[in-house]
Amino acid sequence: MATAALIGAGIGGIATAIRLAVNGWQVTVFEANARPGGKLTDFEQDGFRFDAGPSLFTLPHLVDDLFRLAGENPADHFRYMRLPEICRYRWNDGTRLVADADPEIFARNIEQAWGEPAGHVRAFLRQSAFQYRTTENLFLRRSLHQPGTWFSREALRGYLAIPKLDLFRTQHAANASRFQHPKTVQLFDRYATYNGSDPYQAPALLNLIPHLECHEGAYFPVDGMIGITSALEKLAQRLGVVFRYETPVTRILVDRRIATGVLTESDERHVFDRIVSNMDITPTYRRLLPDEKAPERILGQPRSGSGLVFYWGIGKTFPELGLHSLFFSDDYRKEFEDQFIRKTIADDPTIYLHITAKYRPDDAPPGCENWFVLVNAPANEGQDWPVIIARTRQHILTKLSRLLQTDIAALIRTEAILDPIRIEQRTSSAQGALYGTSSNNPMAAFLRHPNFSSRVGHLYFTGGSVHPGGGIPLCLYSSEIVASLIGKPGNTTCR
Ligand code: FAD
Repeated sequence: MATAALIGAGIGGIATAIRLAVNGWQVTVFEANARPGGKLTDFEQDGFRFDAGPSLFTLPHLVDDLFRLAGENPADHFRYMRLPEICRYRWNDGTRLVADADPEIFARNIEQAWGEPAGHVRAFLRQSAFQYRTTENLFLRRSLHQPGTWFSREALRGYLAIPKLDLFRTQHAANASRFQHPKTVQLFDRYATYNGSDPYQAPALLNLIPHLECHEGAYFPVDGMIGITSALEKLAQRLGVVFRYETPVTRILVDRRIATGVLTESDERHVFDRIVSNMDITPTYRRLLPDEKAPERILGQPRSGSGLVFYWGIGKTFPELGLHSLFFSDDYRKEFEDQFIRKTIADDPTIYLHITAKYRPDDAPPGCENWFVLVNAPANEGQDWPVIIARTRQHILTKLSRLLQTDIAALIRTEAILDPIRIEQRTSSAQGALYGTSSNNPMAAFLRHPNFSSRVGHLYFTGGSVHPGGGIPLCLYSSEIVASLIGKPGNTTCR
């Protein structure tokens, strides 16, 4: 039987393994950690369970598709709910806004809160939907590095739409021209952070992101975010995929410009017909392919933002907080300058709070909540993290204590911390970036590594550091692209 190796059991790796197994490959996944999921994992501590990484779940049908491909009913194995509200927003001046899942109510709530005409929000969301629909089939579901992509019907539609896609100004400039109130601008600028970017640099095309939440919906898996990983791992196993945990790959074996196998840390050599790396593309070249010429221009692209997360077991419940809550800063521009230019964390950071116990009471002891507290952070460039972490922790506690009118520090029963260094240690993500390379450059989509190697045959790449980018939906798209590039065993037209 034709064989394929996956290096890494992140979401992109597992999804690719499933697709290849469905296509008839015998797949083995080598994972350095003891568990699957990479960034999409969880942990328990002192009676609290925390989803450790992603918390925002959109486009769940991309997960369902994997079950359907395998001939299974997704609802039998993976359940999720559509959220009635997307996020509860708060500002330092006391303003509050609930982003309702119904875009019409959302628009009217904004008008009521600070007078931005609801029509502005409606028009913005229409444009967001247009941007998403025009680019989805061209940029996200296909390899940008295959000539066929550029001569397709979708490409033609894309070319015709270029003047309306808002490609030539920044996201912030577009939002500032569309909305009259700074809070509306800030609210929609925030979507740049969904792929670790800076709205003051990133192209306005990123305004396609709100369409996903506001029209397609925000979701939550009933088993928590870890439910995505667990359900897909089990599906892969049912398809015969073999997972080898605590088995880091140390080399991709190459013979006469063809990838032929992998070498593991314990010096075992395994021969395969196809190799797919779900490891971040930079360490894939630096560590696993040291004898191959690395694409320095691509690897040298600036990294996306990272995150600093405090996981706090809190000895109280807060009815005013939702599954997702966000506390904005007063000076958003300075916050991004701090992150992307000064490479530090602002003194008044925007704070994102995720509490799964709102929907899964067992995630915290009775009367308690499991807080996932995230602030945007720069990728690791050797900053003095212990100092930044201690300072930011204090700023967060002061801000939340003031806005929630409670001494939060006194309520912390247990604590864990995730920072850019730990993200890199646990997942090999270069510099601890959450989403691979940043989308701050308008050409970023073309500066991500392709899903295949143009120098080494039978070698492919999946996951958040390669095309089309980071975040769960894009990692799932990358698996679709890789599987279609590889094709079925015996298909000699594949790369
Ligand atoms: P990764 O998760 O990067 O995993 C790669 C895997 O490969 C790891 O398990 C690693 O151990 C393994 N590996 C690496 N090298 C080797 C080797 N040599 N041998 C064997 N195994 C190896 N996305 C969203 O969509 N929504 C969110 O709300 C969101 N929030 C986030 C918050 C945080 C704090 C973090 C950390 C991430 C967040 N993301 C979010 C981003 C999202 O988690 C990632 O884009 C996605 O999970 C990356 O998946 P991946 O397939 O690239 O693999």
